[in-house]
Amino acid sequence: MKLTDLHSLSEKRAKALQKSGIHSVDELLHLFPRRYLDKTTVKPIQMLTESNDPVTVVGRVVQKKVEGYGRKRRLEVFVQDKTGTMKAVWFKGWKYFISRFDEGDWISLFGKVKRYGRQMSMAHPEVDQLESPEDAQKTKTLTPIYPSNQHFSKGYISNKIVQGWIENILAEKEIPEFLPEEIIEKHKFPKRQQAFRDVHQPENKKAAERALERFKYEEFFLFEMSMAKVKRIQISRAESNPIKPGKLTRTFFNDHLPFALTDGQKTTLSEIRNDLARPVQMNRLIQGDVGAGKTVVAIGAMLMAVDSGFQAAMMAPTEILAEQHYYTLKKFLEPLGVHFRLLQGGQKKALRDDVLADISGGRCSIVVGTHAVIQEAVKFNKLGLAVIDEQHRFGVKQRTEILQKGDHPHLLVMSATPIPRSLAMTLYSDLDISVMKDMPAGRKPIKTAVRRDRDREDVYNFLRQTVADGGQAYIVYPLIEESEALDLKDATMGFEKLKRRFPDIEIGLLHGQMKQDEKEGVMQSFVEGDLQILVSTTVIEVGVDVSNASVMIIEHAERFGLSQLHQLRGRIGRGTRQSYCILMPGDKLSESGRFRLKKMVETNDGFEIAEADLKLRGPGDFLGTKQSGLPEFQYADIVEDRLLLEQAKNDAWKIIESDSDLEHESHQSLKQVFTPYFKERAAYFGIG
Ligand code: ADP
Ligand code: MG
Repeated sequence: MKLTDLHSLSEKRAKALQKSGIHSVDELLHLFPRRYLDKTTVKPIQMLTESNDPVTVVGRVVQKKVEGYGRKRRLEVFVQDKTGTMKAVWFKGWKYFISRFDEGDWISLFGKVKRYGRQMSMAHPEVDQLESPEDAQKTKTLTPIYPSNQHFSKGYISNKIVQGWIENILAEKEIPEFLPEEIIEKHKFPKRQQAFRDVHQPENKKAAERALERFKYEEFFLFEMSMAKVKRIQISRAESNPIKPGKLTRTFFNDHLPFALTDGQKTTLSEIRNDLARPVQMNRLIQGDVGAGKTVVAIGAMLMAVDSGFQAAMMAPTEILAEQHYYTLKKFLEPLGVHFRLLQGGQKKALRDDVLADISGGRCSIVVGTHAVIQEAVKFNKLGLAVIDEQHRFGVKQRTEILQKGDHPHLLVMSATPIPRSLAMTLYSDLDISVMKDMPAGRKPIKTAVRRDRDREDVYNFLRQTVADGGQAYIVYPLIEESEALDLKDATMGFEKLKRRFPDIEIGLLHGQMKQDEKEGVMQSFVEGDLQILVSTTVIEVGVDVSNASVMIIEHAERFGLSQLHQLRGRIGRGTRQSYCILMPGDKLSESGRFRLKKMVETNDGFEIAEADLKLRGPGDFLGTKQSGLPEFQYADIVEDRLLLEQAKNDAWKIIESDSDLEHESHQSLKQVFTPYFKERAAYFGIG
């Protein structure tokens, strides 16, 4: 149904709705109230008392004025009802609010009340424009308040108008159910039509909440149905070649490994061995905190492939990390006589052609590289296993692409972003998960502290001492995309300053705008110990491994996200030295900045940090919406609604297991909704 099919909806208003992303009657129906105005809790101004519980006041704007000077400027708005007058104040964003309503307008305010002398006041209340005072006193106690934005601009599409449209739709439109009967019954959900009523015209709060829950469930359910379906498709088509460990693998683990494996490494390796031995494609994720030792496990898996006559490929998100892996392979595999090569974007043509020929000719058994590995030109001779490192930096798409480089190769993906379990289940429910919780023995937990600029002398003395003791240090500067040039200046200036300060110490500079071979050179000098201090932007963030480096100073630490700080910190604490991470924030610290630094000082546990970060930022931002391939849910929140997610997952997987093509009579309406849903997202799920 088109928007303009709705009587009382003009072209002009349809345009305004479209600008806000609402293109159809169905989408309009999905515009849910932001909150409900509850007549029973509207307080007469006379009755207001100071309280921490927010209340609703309905009144008329009698005066608005800007008070104060300079940075102290604020907007004061006086609101009057039959019983008295109160004040609303905006310190921030007042320019917006001053234009939002005029004297004489009816508004409702929602916020905490404070008393100043005899004056009751609300700072930064939530404001809703009302048509008239009766707006808040309909026959029903709850009035839906719809989200509005600049396109709805003042008076043009009012709350009342939206209400009217929705009333029309609900009266005229038959809304079919698609959730199977047994699910509706099991969870005691309202039917779809009723659920829309309960959201838009609720009898009471409870009905509205229950209905909203149903819609959240729907989102999770369809998503999990897709995940289950993907897994189903993968399993049914995923015959693969069994792989078994042989001489190389045994020699590597028995004779060449300079340390004993951790329990987590052992368990993970045996899970991988079991997966690989079957004639079915492996699809496994290793989740392990930075420094847990995932690389060795990956090498083990790749050797099993080589032992069985296959090639293996390992893909990493950055050049530096790919190189790092290359050097690790060199250390471990050269003595075994295994042929391996590095494949990168910036390589000279002659070299690149040579590498490509080696891969397609089967002379090289293991390839490590960046995205270059999945490029068109790369042809494998017999790819049996693909490994993706730091998998959260890639999308589902790349996962699919690398699999197309062979005849159903096994897949191993690794992630150092410790993701809370609920989130991992959602994101990767088509993968089996191995968790590596323990750290290699002998590691001393990193000590983390916050130091301010006034402590800089002490910090520098400490740095000198560390270097004098044969240690190495990182000094990290933030790199924020919008102002790359500016931040680069920070790092460069820091580098120059430090060189003057410590003329007798070898200091290197590393940043993203350097040429490939320059970067390599600097990194290699640091690895080999020719440089004692490495000043860098966040290019060293991922996976870099120099076990002699035991100090990290993070400048402008407040500008980093929590998980990023933790990832950075993971570069140290890898050897036997006691390691120190010193966070040096700038002068201005926001509340969230303070919280992040505090959390870093409190804990070394990546899972705890991830959990806190997730709460702080929400899932989209936490994983970087684009790269994570995380679906956008309109109503549901992966963190807050975990329980619902788990239920939806169980229900969905059960249905796909018993009736994967939805042929059963009772699944016909579901099929009608799910088929287009799944098709539309086929690319996302890597099956398009
Ligand atoms: P990550 O899991 O972050 O990728 P790495 O694989 O880079 O960690 O390993 C970090 C460091 O720990 C490497 O120097 C590696 O050689 C070392 N390491 C791995 N496993 C063990 C172990 N079981 N005992 C001691 N050191 C180990
Ligand atoms: Mg790693």
